[in-house]
Amino acid sequence: MEAGVVSEVKTKKKVVKVIKIDADKCNGCRACEAICSAYHSEPKYSIVNPARARIRVVRDPLRDIYVPIHAGPYTAAECMGREKFVIDGKEYEECVFCRSACPSRDVFKDPDSGLPLKCDMCEGEDEPLCVKWCMVDALTYEEREEEVPEEEPVEELEEGLAALADKFGLDKILDAVARMSLKE
Ligand code: SF4
Ligand code: SF4
Repeated sequence: MEAGVVSEVKTKKKVVKVIKIDADKCNGCRACEAICSAYHSEPKYSIVNPARARIRVVRDPLRDIYVPIHAGPYTAAECMGREKFVIDGKEYEECVFCRSACPSRDVFKDPDSGLPLKCDMCEGEDEPLCVKWCMVDALTYEEREEEVPEEEPVEELEEGLAALADKFGLDKILDAVARMSLKE
């Protein structure tokens, strides 16, 4: 590169969608889990199964503690360490407030396929449905614009394939795809 020439980083505008969680307002009703699972069922609204929701509410009714957690991106490897939360003197299980689907636990994975579940902010809706269905405003929605570097998006398909490859091994996935293509 020529001396004094600084390469320009291409940027683009990105809308950042934020769900603000006020855990003090949450009453643990789990309506958010119900509507999320219904919205993402096939066909839409055909099944309510909180195990398929992209939000889960950590509930501790005896202490009146309820914490909604939205599913974050899939992570192929376990963390090197663990987190342990202490709230009002009570120690909670390790990883209980983590947002990731990861190999070390079954949280945020489809109960049938084992594929990871990730909150997609109800793409296509004017407002996330868990926010709409939260009657006590424990969840509220905000949007803001940010300037970010251009980059290739990691497609949902790629994440799903990576999770399957972790579970079954890449060779088995390739064999299965080869068999499927012969059937067509
Ligand atoms: S709908 Fe609202 S109050 Fe009910 S569990 Fe979800 S976040 Fe909590
Ligand atoms: S924003 Fe939509 S996809 Fe994400 S947890 Fe709420 S209802 Fe589910």
